[in-house]
Amino acid sequence: MIYFDNSATTFVSEAVRAKMIELTEDPVSANPGALHKLGNKAMETYEGIRRETAGLLGAKPEEIFFTSCATESANTAIKGYMSRNRRAGNAVISTKTEHKATLECLEYLAKQGYEIRYVKAGMDGKPVEASLVEELNKGDVALACFTLVNNETGAVLPFEDISRTIRSVSPSTAIYLDCVQALGKMPIDLSKLGADMCSFSGHKIHSVKGNGVLYIKKGIKVDPLILGGGQQDGMRSGTQSPVLAGAFLAALKEVSEGIEEAREKACEINSYLRKELSERGAKILSPDDALPYVLNVSFQGFESETMLHCLEIYDIYVSTVSACSAKQKKVSYVLLEMGVDRKTAANAVRLSFSRYNTMDEAKEFITHVDEIYDQFLVR
Ligand code: PLP
Repeated sequence: MIYFDNSATTFVSEAVRAKMIELTEDPVSANPGALHKLGNKAMETYEGIRRETAGLLGAKPEEIFFTSCATESANTAIKGYMSRNRRAGNAVISTKTEHKATLECLEYLAKQGYEIRYVKAGMDGKPVEASLVEELNKGDVALACFTLVNNETGAVLPFEDISRTIRSVSPSTAIYLDCVQALGKMPIDLSKLGADMCSFSGHKIHSVKGNGVLYIKKGIKVDPLILGGGQQDGMRSGTQSPVLAGAFLAALKEVSEGIEEAREKACEINSYLRKELSERGAKILSPDDALPYVLNVSFQGFESETMLHCLEIYDIYVSTVSACSAKQKKVSYVLLEMGVDRKTAANAVRLSFSRYNTMDEAKEFITHVDEIYDQFLVR
C-alpha cells in the first residue's frame, strides 16, 4: 500500500497506541473532576499532559485547551471571540481559501449580521498584501482568520508579514490562525508566533481522531462554545479525557523531533514527483514554495475521481478535492480562488505525505501512473 493522503488523516503511531493503553488502566481512568484521591490522581495526570503539551508548543499551560478536533477549536475561537468582544468591531477578514471549519463559522457570523471581508489570494495561494491593507483600512475589523499551511495546496502563509501588516494598520484586530497542517512539519513556537488563537488537530499528526487543541493567548477573552460543568477553566466543559489529551501529546512529542530531517525527506519525494509528473504532462498546482508535504497536481486526460480510483486499483491512496454529485460537478474552491481554470481544477488530485513515506514509494507511484496512462487513457 502507498498512502499519500496524510493531509486527510494520518495513521496512528505505535507510541500513541501505547500511551492510550497506559492511560486507560484502572486507577488513571477515574474522573479528573472527582473529589477522591483517584480523581486527584487523574487530574494530576491530565494537568501534566497539559503542561507538557504547552511546553512543546511554546505556550503557557493555561493557554491550552483540549477539544474534540480542530473544527471545534475553530468554532470556539471564531464564534467565541466575536460574541465576547462585541465592541471590538463588526467586521472579520479572511480569505476564500480557508478550510470549511473557518469558512462555515464566517458564514454563520454573516448571518448574525457581521461583515465578512475576503482578502484576495494570488496564484501562489497567499493573501495579496494590497488587498489585505485595503480591507483593513475600511476599519472596524475585530478579527482576522488565516491558515498557516493550506490543506489543499501546501501554500505557506507569510505569517510574519501578515501579522506585521495587521498590527500596524489595525492594532486592535485579533488574529486566529489555523495551524492544523503546519504542526510537526514546521517549527511552531506560540510564544513568538504572534497569533492570538490557534487550532491544532491530533489526527493529522498520527494521533487518533477525536482530539484537538485550542490555544488562546493569555488576556484574549473568548466565550466558550460548550457549556456545562465548567471544566478546563470554563472554556470547554465536558469531563476531561486524559486518554485523548495523552494521545495528542504522544503524537506531538514524536512529530516535534527531527522536523528538519523529515522535511528534507519530504522535499526529495516532492521534487522527484514534481519532475516526473511534469515530464508526463501533468500540471503542478501547488506553489513552488509550498510546504513539501502537499503536492496538488492536475493529471492530463483524467478527471480527479477517475485518477483516484485508478490509483486505488494499485493500492495507492490519494485525495480529490473535487467531488462529483449527480446534479453538480464540484471543483476545488481553493484552486478556483487562486486563479486555476475550471478544467485544470477538475483534474486535480492531492498527494500528501507524512514523515514515514519513502522515495521507493514515490518511484512505485510513478511506475503505476505510467501503467494507468497506458491502460486507461482514451487518446
Ligand atoms: N483546518 C485544516 C487546514 C484542515 O486540513 C482540517 C482537516 O482537514 C481542519 C481544519 C479540521 O480538522 P479536524 O478534522 O480535526 O476537525
